[in-house]
Amino acid sequence: MTAVIDSCFDGGNIRRLQSDDATQIRLAIEADAGGEFFQWFYFRVTAARASRFQIIIENAASSAYPAGWENYNVVVSNDRTNWYRLQTEYDDRGLCFSVDMQSDVLWVAYFTPYSLQQHDNLIGRISSCDLVSTHVLGHTVDGRTLDCLQIGENDAPLKAWAIARQHPGETMAQWWMEGYLQRLVDGNDAVVRELLKQMVFYVVPNMNPDGSYRGYLRTNAAGRNLNREWSSPSVEHSPEVYLVRQKMHETGVDFCLDVHGDEAIPYNFIAGTEGVASWNEKRQQLQETFKHNLQRANPDFQTTVGYPVTPAGRANYGICSNYIAETFNCPAMTLEMPFKDTELSPDLHHGWSAERSALLGRSCIEALYSIADHL
Ligand SMILES: [Zn+2]
Repeated sequence: MTAVIDSCFDGGNIRRLQSDDATQIRLAIEADAGGEFFQWFYFRVTAARASRFQIIIENAASSAYPAGWENYNVVVSNDRTNWYRLQTEYDDRGLCFSVDMQSDVLWVAYFTPYSLQQHDNLIGRISSCDLVSTHVLGHTVDGRTLDCLQIGENDAPLKAWAIARQHPGETMAQWWMEGYLQRLVDGNDAVVRELLKQMVFYVVPNMNPDGSYRGYLRTNAAGRNLNREWSSPSVEHSPEVYLVRQKMHETGVDFCLDVHGDEAIPYNFIAGTEGVASWNEKRQQLQETFKHNLQRANPDFQTTVGYPVTPAGRANYGICSNYIAETFNCPAMTLEMPFKDTELSPDLHHGWSAERSALLGRSCIEALYSIADHL
């Protein structure tokens, strides 16, 4: 049986190239709308059990972040529940790995996928919990629902926002949301009960459902990079940001986490908002305390490696955390998780994973608790 490659499903992305060699499958990743970015891939291989062949993603070198392929291993699964890593090489042929079929079907992805069906299941599960109200903020370019979950009372003095997946290929951000939300609705959790006395949580688990479904890395259906749209979002081209920003102005913001994945850096880290005009000693202090306590709560997080700090006054206000820090005069941070693994605490079989992302989401509640009295 010749191997069959499919990607025509929720989140799928790959194109097969012609090959005369039956032991070699040549592939290419399709670009997001606008043609500028590609890196996310997700496809299904169907082939006879025990057959062996090599898969090569040939356009890896011209992807958005080629440094992302160094020391990277693809994520695979036979049942779409248990995902693990497969030894992968990156050389002048592209991204290459050998497949030895354990059953007739294998799914291959850049990171453990998080489908829109899983998103809907998450919304359903969390919405049915006590203290939760679900808001439809509006609709995306493709007409999908933009969901915001509220946990806690409207009149709580502090408003804590968290958003994820502005960049749809960063699926670890929505796995993070699983852990964060599950903890927020756990009535037995004393830390959460304390926080809810003074705080209400607004959570957008997926900012970019269109890009998620279309199998994009970085843009929405109109080809916009949502994390550059915050200073002037448009109803037509970036309604996702327009609608969330509108809700933020309605509620106010006292703290915000924007959750992402980074292709190249093998660490969990936080990018702060040091470049905004209103940056001050208090904001610095809160950011340091948050990071320090996140590291204490979860050693998968660290504070040594990350992006270079933006010089004072040089912030790009198209970026969510900068826009929020400046507009609402509050701590706002971009949390980055790796696609590869954490260099300080590696897991050879899974790499950085859905499960570890969810645990980091839980840990962020601990870190927030450590600064809540000073917001
Ligand atoms: Zn991102």
